Amino acid sequence: MTTYLEPGLYINGAWRTTGADLPVVDPATEAVIGRVPIAGPVDLDDALAAAASGFEVWRRTPPRDRADLICSAAALLRSRRDEIARSITLEHGKPFTQAQDEVIRGAEFFEWDAGEAMRTYGRVIPSGPGVRHVVHHQPIGPVAAFSPWNFPLSQPARKVAGALASGCSIILKAAEETPAGAVHIVRAFHDAGLPPGVLNLIFGIPADISEHLIASEVIRLVAFTGSTSVGRHLTGLASDHMTPVLMELGGHAPVIVCEDTDVEAAAASSAIRSMRNAGQVCTSPTRFFVHQAVYEQFLDGITRGSAATVVGVGMEPGVEMGPLANDRRLASVAELVADACDAGGVLTTGGHRIGEAGYFYEPTVLADVGDHARIMREEPFGPVAIVNPVDSLDTAIERANAVPFGLAAFGFTNRADYVDRMIDRVEAGNLSINTLEASLPETPFGGMKSSGYGREGGTEGLHHYLSVKNVSHSIPIV
Ligand code: NAD
Repeated sequence: MTTYLEPGLYINGAWRTTGADLPVVDPATEAVIGRVPIAGPVDLDDALAAAASGFEVWRRTPPRDRADLICSAAALLRSRRDEIARSITLEHGKPFTQAQDEVIRGAEFFEWDAGEAMRTYGRVIPSGPGVRHVVHHQPIGPVAAFSPWNFPLSQPARKVAGALASGCSIILKAAEETPAGAVHIVRAFHDAGLPPGVLNLIFGIPADISEHLIASEVIRLVAFTGSTSVGRHLTGLASDHMTPVLMELGGHAPVIVCEDTDVEAAAASSAIRSMRNAGQVCTSPTRFFVHQAVYEQFLDGITRGSAATVVGVGMEPGVEMGPLANDRRLASVAELVADACDAGGVLTTGGHRIGEAGYFYEPTVLADVGDHARIMREEPFGPVAIVNPVDSLDTAIERANAVPFGLAAFGFTNRADYVDRMIDRVEAGNLSINTLEASLPETPFGGMKSSGYGREGGTEGLHHYLSVKNVSHSIPIV
């Protein structure tokens, strides 16, 4: 039997538990596999004090030393990959091989940002004799970060990497439902020798924690990944204190399939990508707009590919999709699919819960769904692909843009003029052509419109964690 870890709070370099806790549930069986402590006001104040003192140490640590330590922690994550992946599969449900991939991806985020730590260049502004203007980039200060449950390791890794590489301290509130990835990140940094207070980990009641932390003068940046509604709420709290925010929020990614493309290949890769992580990915390809000349062929291909997805318990070999991560998702996906069918949509495969224990849901393809169906505007965040025909690229772009989201978008075409039109007009922070990969450590990732504000990764990834200070220096001319 695989055992699950015992999550704790990590404050000022030491682990602690509290008198109250929440259950951690295996979504494949609905069994309680562990408990996560709830931080109270005293714990939060301790974390704030620790982050304030940790910042004073870390901001004076030379960038190369910061980078070395971050890379040491990343190496520990790589060496502990299988142990971490087992915990993630147990608490989240995703297939073990995908959890393994996630651990490596998290390590890559750390390694990329560690490199960027040494390239936070300022600049010298040309000026006349007797004066120098120099722009410095300095760590913004202690960060309050909130990471979600869909990628228990790589999501918190993004935030911890950005903060620590920049010289900031951080209080991370990771997802209570999936604490393992964040706990393992902290263990790796503890073992790598990170000074106390630089990285602090808490769990508890999300609304209580965000209100307490964001109201504190210690916190200089709020970083959040999750739903647009919660992001909007946290942005409101932060605005009371003029605290800047980094918001990675929801998406509802359009996929434009043009008539000139390799339809079979596009359909096969779309089926795999739509069902990855049971569709619980903010860049998941969800709204397919397919040229009518290839519509039937594409619909047939994505239906076959989705129906062939092997669904099961994540630790079983060969499983390609696990359960949904929690009962909220099960209820929400079922509701959106039922509404789409009521609105005239046609199920070509899936559309039902599997079994009665565990949160399993069939890989689902919906065809011909009218724009008035809720699922055309609301992110399904589940294993659902929605396929609709269009008569032209212009119509496809217009429909792609007809939602408040603008995170990822995808196009399949070999025509340069079509690509050019998509680059010009598709509203998304990340547009991928002939690939469904939306984000890599070296590419900037983030949204337009209600999908958020700011970027993680790429050379832009540290911008939010840094303050710009211009120094004008008058020098006596001798
Ligand atoms: P939710 O809106 O209740 O919570 C989303 C996340 O925000 C969770 O991690 C939760 O712990 C946290 N949260 C909630 N209220 C908070 C508060 N007041 N202060 C601080 N953190 C708070 O929804 P959910 O049921 O957990 O997830 C469903 C929706 O969330 C999905 O439909 C999807 O749109 C979105 N989501 C997006 C991402 C992403 O990667 N962008 C990840 C997870 C969830």
